Amino acid sequence: MLTTCSPFKTVTASITKYLPDHDKSAPYWPRVNNSLERLAKRISKKGKLKELKKTLKEKRQGGDEVGECIIVTRLDPNKKAYDPLDEHTHLHSVRVFRFHWLNEADDLKSAEECSNGFNEKLNEEFCINPYHYETRRWEKKTKQIRKPLATWTQYRDRANTFIPNKDLDTKNRLVLKWDTDGVLIRESRPSYNLNPAYNRGLKEEEYAVTDVWAAVKLNPALTKISKEFTSISSQFIVDASSEERSTSERLSFPRPSSKVGKGVLIYTVDGEVYLKNLSESPIFILSLFANHFFRYESTAVVKIPSKASLKVWSNDEFLDLLEAQSENSFHEVEDLGSWGNIRISFVGWGQKYEHQKFPVGLSSFEVTFIDGKEWAEKTMLAMGKPDLAAG
Ligand SMILES: [Zn+2]
Repeated sequence: MLTTCSPFKTVTASITKYLPDHDKSAPYWPRVNNSLERLAKRISKKGKLKELKKTLKEKRQGGDEVGECIIVTRLDPNKKAYDPLDEHTHLHSVRVFRFHWLNEADDLKSAEECSNGFNEKLNEEFCINPYHYETRRWEKKTKQIRKPLATWTQYRDRANTFIPNKDLDTKNRLVLKWDTDGVLIRESRPSYNLNPAYNRGLKEEEYAVTDVWAAVKLNPALTKISKEFTSISSQFIVDASSEERSTSERLSFPRPSSKVGKGVLIYTVDGEVYLKNLSESPIFILSLFANHFFRYESTAVVKIPSKASLKVWSNDEFLDLLEAQSENSFHEVEDLGSWGNIRISFVGWGQKYEHQKFPVGLSSFEVTFIDGKEWAEKTMLAMGKPDLAAG
């Protein structure tokens, strides 16, 4: 518990007056506030604070100067007190003072004038001046090898949050059904035309499907095992293996585990993504997309029995949602940006289980469907980000 005389509180208070006009009742605010606290923790030394304030003051007065580099040291993941969420101080800084909608550190690149960017991996120090970074969202990502995904930001595990558990109901329309010939029965759905006029002037090409359709991180935050799957393989398996194994269609936990067994198959057909539990044990999944269609609470963890399958993503349905929400507010579209993320675990979590939170470090992993995330970002851009002009 922080007290009023904590140096962090003092730092927080002293930089608060330089904040852009954040809407503190908006859904994004808790995340920005969290970034503010993490930033304060890293710049509590007098000199750094002074440097930051100088730049912010200049900017606040409408100046063009972007200031000097403000340097912090890289955190050591081997240290006991290491918290991966503190690692990307530059992300927190930019999120607090410029672009509140930033999801992850991969969304940022160094500005030309800065040679101490976070991505200069060989440097033991890096710059956290918010004006020494630019967003990379305009870059075309097709056919590009992407870096491992950065820290998970959307599913913040809140202490004392009630996480209901749901067992899969086979009558649900997301559960796959086959006819007597073993052919998958597809739901009939309205066709979705990418009509530029319909999409508030967005260009059709902006909703193009990228080459990379999914990115996976095993044991998020503890290991660095991650992989992206491109359209070359329309399916992949996450399982466990005693050898380091990562092929074009497989990613394995480094230790065999009876719970993981044959693992999980994730595959894509016509812009839809399905998940099949190949293991003998149930698996547990948290997916905002699936919960929306199940009409479950957004934090519900769904238990999927052995050999069962379910639909976890649909490009068409997501575009419908995006379209509908773009008529509402910017923040609702922003929230949709995290719908392409799912959390999967071979270890149960939630109310009925030993683990109340997503069991990071056990047999758990995260999958991101890249297109949904990018489309949400493009829609936000087209709507005109409130903070973009201020940045
Ligand atoms: Zn710099």
